[in-house]
Amino acid sequence: MKKHYNGYKSFQYLEPNKDYRAFKLVREIDRVPSKNIELSKSEEERVEEILEKYIVISLHDHSTVFPENPQEILPYVREGRMFTGFEGLAVSGIDVIFDGLFDGIGLTPSRDPWSWDNVIYQIGMFHSDIDHQNLAFIVRRIEDVEKAHKEGKIGIVIHIEGAPRIGDEIDRVDVLYGLGVRCMGITYSKGNEFGSGLADKYDKGLTDLGYKLVERMNKIGMAIDIAHSSDKTSMDVIEASKKPVFITHAGARKLWPTRRMKPDEVIQALAEKGGVIGVEASPHTTLTLEDRKHSIETVMKHFQYIEKLVGIDYVAFGPDTLFGDHVALHKVFSRELSLTETRTKELEYTEVEYVDGLENPSQFKNIIRWLVKNGYSDEEISKVIGGNVLRVLREVW
Ligand SMILES: [Zn+2]
Repeated sequence: MKKHYNGYKSFQYLEPNKDYRAFKLVREIDRVPSKNIELSKSEEERVEEILEKYIVISLHDHSTVFPENPQEILPYVREGRMFTGFEGLAVSGIDVIFDGLFDGIGLTPSRDPWSWDNVIYQIGMFHSDIDHQNLAFIVRRIEDVEKAHKEGKIGIVIHIEGAPRIGDEIDRVDVLYGLGVRCMGITYSKGNEFGSGLADKYDKGLTDLGYKLVERMNKIGMAIDIAHSSDKTSMDVIEASKKPVFITHAGARKLWPTRRMKPDEVIQALAEKGGVIGVEASPHTTLTLEDRKHSIETVMKHFQYIEKLVGIDYVAFGPDTLFGDHVALHKVFSRELSLTETRTKELEYTEVEYVDGLENPSQFKNIIRWLVKNGYSDEEISKVIGGNVLRVLREVW
């Protein structure tokens, strides 16, 4: 659906370099020559029809825009004022985006990404910016998803990738809900009081407190994400949750055997309970043993594998892209992001500067173009670009 963007730039209600330190940010469209899937004229028309007709949901991305100069990434982040890529989102084809904001990184003085302060700071700063413009709005209920599509707006789901440090104060889940959080990970890569993360050596699964967290999230109507949870935590959550859960962004371990990818058992258990997995495209994640150069083609191999494994009703896309040099960002924040995967000889891959075809959120449309080109029906496409996620949200929210 065509979006109405009036040119607003983040925080334009303040004076740059007086109220905050300004950085030169990347272009939100065509930062690098990332390819567009080529289509015939009739295929192009079909893509436009699909965008008009169906709701498009990204199950995981970051709407944040980063500085052009990688050296400035750290000072920019420490400034605590993350710009949102409204211009890029407006042409992405996305109606509703599960936005990871910029979690996993500590902005507040403690530098602890999961401190209560840090999480609340980021959410509050985001709300302030969003409330100064008209293209995007925070999604709080199902009707908002339909509204975004119908009215040519971008609906943003606040999605925290890991639970903040709330100790045993489960009531703080209500506070997060009140601030608009509608999807939350049980753990980030490094485990917490609720369960083990995928970077943990010892996988203890979901803890007693973790079971309480799942119960409260079910009751309050907050979607559960296990993308960064360990295998055992994932299985425990799927079993414990009374509602279907999400793996918002991952891929198939069968194709690329790293911890970040999910084993068949987890994907199957998730699907059996009606959940959905979003296929991700963050640089150097969804590779395959046959094709070790990351591009939209390897991403789609993971999609097709999962589709075959559990069926088209349980798969979607959570590309996990952002506006800027994602590879440089991984290098700057490798420790905070718990990118502990060691590069073994068996898992050698070709380093890329960006994922060709899925470089940033503005290229989400390329997924639809790929599906059209590869003979998927309208019904199938409508499911994987939004319908499946919407089905889960109707049950959960
Ligand atoms: Zn993530």
